[in-house]
Amino acid sequence: MKQSDPLLFRQQALIDGEWRDAADGARFAIHNPATAETVGHAPCCSAADVERAVAAAHAAFAGWRATPAKTRAQLLRRWFDLMLANRDDLAAIMVREQGKPLAEARGEIDYAASFIEWFAEEARRVYGDVVASPWAERRMLTLQQPVGVAALITPWNFPAAMLTRKAGAALTAGCTVVAKPASQTPFTALALAELTQRAGFPPGVLNIVTGDAATIGGVLTSHPLVRKLSFTGSTAVGKQLLAQSAATLKHVSLELGGNAPFIVFDAFAEKFAAAAARLKVGNGFEAGVEIGPLISAAALRKVEAHIADALAQGATLLAGGSRHALGGQFFQPTVLRDCTPGMQVCRDETFGPVAPLIRFAGEAEAIRMANDTEFGLAAYAYTRDLGRAWRLAEALDYGMVGINAGLISTAEAAFGGVKQSGLGREGGRSGIGEYLESKYVNLGGLG
Ligand code: ADP
Repeated sequence: MKQSDPLLFRQQALIDGEWRDAADGARFAIHNPATAETVGHAPCCSAADVERAVAAAHAAFAGWRATPAKTRAQLLRRWFDLMLANRDDLAAIMVREQGKPLAEARGEIDYAASFIEWFAEEARRVYGDVVASPWAERRMLTLQQPVGVAALITPWNFPAAMLTRKAGAALTAGCTVVAKPASQTPFTALALAELTQRAGFPPGVLNIVTGDAATIGGVLTSHPLVRKLSFTGSTAVGKQLLAQSAATLKHVSLELGGNAPFIVFDAFAEKFAAAAARLKVGNGFEAGVEIGPLISAAALRKVEAHIADALAQGATLLAGGSRHALGGQFFQPTVLRDCTPGMQVCRDETFGPVAPLIRFAGEAEAIRMANDTEFGLAAYAYTRDLGRAWRLAEALDYGMVGINAGLISTAEAAFGGVKQSGLGREGGRSGIGEYLESKYVNLGGLG
């Protein structure tokens, strides 16, 4: 990997403004999913290390919440500028640990930075209300105050953006942060943390711990000084963390699994399969690559199991279907026709390059099938019929709907799901609200 600034590649945790190993020196290896080479090592933080990070975040909270919003915004803005200035290095770190094509990794850095920019701009617009009082001699108001220390747990699919979407909102609101990146992809988060140091964030405001998920999650969900948990990941782990957070009644935001219906009303299958078969698979650093490797061998097996289940139940293969000739964790872009809603590939998250196509007879059936799932993250529909576009937008039980648009996530819009796809929203105006507590003040004795 060519990196102009080797100091961005951090292999230690950031606790209280210091780069640290785990107290007992334990480390774990991170592998490149395209080559199986070791990318580096990250500390296996113990419960005591995580407690130190929480204590640091708590100690920093008093000063951070009292820092004027404008000053917090300036720090965020500096972080944003540094992310863009170091885009190529950050993207290279991401490709090595995550595998996505370099152009997509660069795109993710821009997208991740856009959340910091958005929240920096919003920082000075966090304020409460003066409420009409039913008492002549009293005044009523609401204050918007930060909830406190926020724990952020993020997945491997967007190692930069899932962190900044949470941290940008939390830091803007005046919360301090302890974040745990996914074990497969800690280095992007650590590099972003290095940039917060350069931007001048005070020690303890943003801490990053790495290591065993259950150990770290155990401390973050049970610690009384952690007041907010924001998690992006699987529905199963999200439910577990929500249950673990009940004893200390934390604010919880969950961005969980999804399985997005993509409704198209014209002849589609053959053209789509031909386009899928043309996609270039390979190492994310190679020019022109559009599909990288899967994140792990387990992910590869899940894709194979989903395809086998679909074929056994009558699906037809239109493209791909097997491991790629490149070997390793590469898989062919796959299109399956004649799928039915009961198949695993239609019910679970496949997290691989597999598109199952289900035939529907009309709009009502499409809506019924699209809504027949425990998930409700995002849905997409393609139609030129304006009435149909509105009916679909209103009838689809999803937190987000794209009509004639496939890439809809942006810092200005609230991202999140309904049903078992999660609780709360990230980004947009609502993003900061997830880290604020409203306080009602009743001021009497005015005469
Ligand atoms: P994915 O399928 O995206 O890997 P996970 O829910 O397993 O979804 O992982 C998302 C994030 O949650 C990762 O950072 C992972 O390390 C973390 N995680 C997994 N299990 C736990 C747990 N028991 N407690 C806390 N965090 C966890």
